[in-house]
Amino acid sequence: MSDALSERLKVVEGDITRLDVDAIVNAANTRLLGGGGVDGAIHRAAGPGLLAECRTLDGCPTGEARLTGGYDLPARHVIHTVGPVYRDGRHGEPELLRSCYVESLRLAAGAELETVAFPGISTGVYGYPKDEACDIAVTAVSEWLAAYDLPRVVTFCCYGAADAALYRERLGIDT
Ligand code: ADP
Repeated sequence: MSDALSERLKVVEGDITRLDVDAIVNAANTRLLGGGGVDGAIHRAAGPGLLAECRTLDGCPTGEARLTGGYDLPARHVIHTVGPVYRDGRHGEPELLRSCYVESLRLAAGAELETVAFPGISTGVYGYPKDEACDIAVTAVSEWLAAYDLPRVVTFCCYGAADAALYRERLGIDT
């Protein structure tokens, strides 16, 4: 990773709902009305205002993203994106997963957000193999950062030491 890129790409381990950034990304479902995993954690931490705003959005197709407020979260905004359910990797899953990252970054840049944190979209209940999902996430975000000034810093928020190690290895980060 180049020095310029390494200053703009971070890996942290922990709960994304605790991060004080301009936007955290939610691994949502097409209804955008909450769910399990990181989606449930974000709605619990944000409070009922988030669900009320999500109800006005009329859902979100897989591979797209929507921006809301952050309500009671430390983060100012939530970017909801809908990852693909993994079948065998031959049903458009890589393209759709990449699209989640790119469309989330496009929304963030359009709203002039400087700091954004992603969880591992689709790598929980949706079953995307973690190493393949990590490759797609790192490639999509690195290419975006090489082309655009915003967001300034993107954090991969890893839920557990194994996920953090995977991202750090893929990015060539030692610590
Ligand atoms: P999906 O339905 O897109 O697979 P999940 O919420 O089931 O979404 O899982 C997505 C990823 O988010 C998984 O890697 C899971 O370990 C991680 N995760 C779950 N809770 C949190 C949290 N509070 N902060 C960050 N990541 C989380």
